[in-house]
Amino acid sequence: MNSPALTFSQMSLNRASSARKSKHWLLEQQNKADTVFLPVWRSLCLFEQDKLAEFTREQAITGQLISQASNCYFLGLDGEQAVFVLDLSELSQKLLDNLLTDKYQAKDFRSALPLITARQAPILAYGRALNHWHRQCQYCGYCGGKTLSLDGGHRRKCQSESCAKEHFPRTDPVVIMLVEYQPPGGKAKCLLAQHHNIPSKVVSTLAGFVDPGESLEEAVSREVFEEAGVVVDQVTYMASQPWPFPNSLMIGFFARATSDEINIDNDEIVDACWFSAEEISTFDNWGDAGDNYQLPRKESIARYLIDSWLEKQAEKQ
Ligand SMILES: [Zn+2]
Repeated sequence: MNSPALTFSQMSLNRASSARKSKHWLLEQQNKADTVFLPVWRSLCLFEQDKLAEFTREQAITGQLISQASNCYFLGLDGEQAVFVLDLSELSQKLLDNLLTDKYQAKDFRSALPLITARQAPILAYGRALNHWHRQCQYCGYCGGKTLSLDGGHRRKCQSESCAKEHFPRTDPVVIMLVEYQPPGGKAKCLLAQHHNIPSKVVSTLAGFVDPGESLEEAVSREVFEEAGVVVDQVTYMASQPWPFPNSLMIGFFARATSDEINIDNDEIVDACWFSAEEISTFDNWGDAGDNYQLPRKESIARYLIDSWLEKQAEKQ
């Protein structure tokens, strides 16, 4: 099944899961002249003016990026060309500035998204999420021993001989759902909420982390009831999207409410209302000026769910 063209999905790299287990093969890839290195510093990526900085091996050596990086992780193959992430996160701000000179700028990934191509976005998101996991997993969660990166950065192993536990990259599953209510004989409406952690004029879908011991459908029902006091009886999968802030997988659903009664939990959300397709079509975009309601960012799966619902309503007419 083809997934929709959501930002951060549609990965073009072959992850070469078997080949990357060989140290010899990885070294060969690192030493090829056309191999691409993408440096990251904590949550920032490097740009040369308004273009994502992609370094060849020679450029990365000359610019001292390889010698200054604390780690180098293999992402995959673009045809025959290998792509690696260089982790500069252990450098201080001052050392980073010295390294970059005036030619390169470190920019926040999220605010720099308009400068990144559709092909680059999933690669960089993947590199950032992998890098984040490595920074979190320097020490073993079982015994506190130091861990070592293996398989080009796709496995870590505890260095304590008595423990030797293996650790693998993690993704946090998050359900995100557009809740619809269809009144008998009336027009469908959908539930959108104002959230504590996004600008107050933005209304978006509900979302929440999946609990241990819970199916995705159960997580949807629980989150909708906890946040808005709404009961849903039908949950349908729509699409998923890697969300590298820092390492979630957003799993999108449509859910059908059994009534339009709302009972907000203000610890979870600021407010929630039912909106018709006509009302939503008058909303502005994220970041627009004015006091009108705004829709979520265009790169988000929340926006995809809302746009898909609007299309469905238009088809009904
Ligand atoms: Zn251990």
